[in-house]
Amino acid sequence: MNDPATLLADVEGHIAQACRIAARERGEVTLVAVSKTHPADAIAPLLAAGQRAFGENRVQEAEAKWPALREQWPDAELHLVGQLQSNKAADAVALFDAIHSLDRPSLVTALARGMDKAGRQVPCFVQVDIGEEPQKGGCAIAELPMLLAQARDADVPVAGLMCVPPHGIEPAPFFALLDKLAADHGLPGRSMGMSGDYETAIMLGATHVRVGTALFGSRAPG
Ligand SMILES: *Cc1c(COP(=O)(O)O)cnc(C)c1O
Repeated sequence: MNDPATLLADVEGHIAQACRIAARERGEVTLVAVSKTHPADAIAPLLAAGQRAFGENRVQEAEAKWPALREQWPDAELHLVGQLQSNKAADAVALFDAIHSLDRPSLVTALARGMDKAGRQVPCFVQVDIGEEPQKGGCAIAELPMLLAQARDADVPVAGLMCVPPHGIEPAPFFALLDKLAADHGLPGRSMGMSGDYETAIMLGATHVRVGTALFGSRAPG
């Protein structure tokens, strides 16, 4: 029951069903397997089963786990899904293939510098504070146009928007709002949906779902 290949097949089945209902192609949705806190031993079976996109929320943890895994699976794709400190931006640019937590002007500046230094453009998602919960991080909706303009001027590539809706409330209205904001700004990417709500997110336009617990089991608290 708990074997990783079975859990992956199960999640893939739910994704396929949501895509069918929404009349979307499976290829329009990237499953990002959020492997934060889980050791390389737990990640390798998913790679062996064909999963390629993974999410981590700490630069240092990812630096410790991923070089060895990438030697064996060079086409693995690494997404940063956690808050990023500006002083870690250059390290994040060197390691990650996408950054889902661009949320403030100082980070645009730091990422622009890091991409310049590394000679590498890393697509970013602007995290939006969709439920007006500043403690979660994310750019206020009112500040989104300014942040997007700043990223454009700094040559930081923005692939789309990302959100984490408030806990314990129906997430669909927040997903619909993120979809609308992305459309208003002509952005193709929508990073939304986690273990509890990724099917709903897919029906509302998610292009990237970030699924941890449903693939790896629960994380140790803290
Ligand atoms: C941990 C995390 C996830 C995965 O959450 P699950 O509920 O375990 O699927 C997704 N997105 C972000 C930003 C996270 O920090």
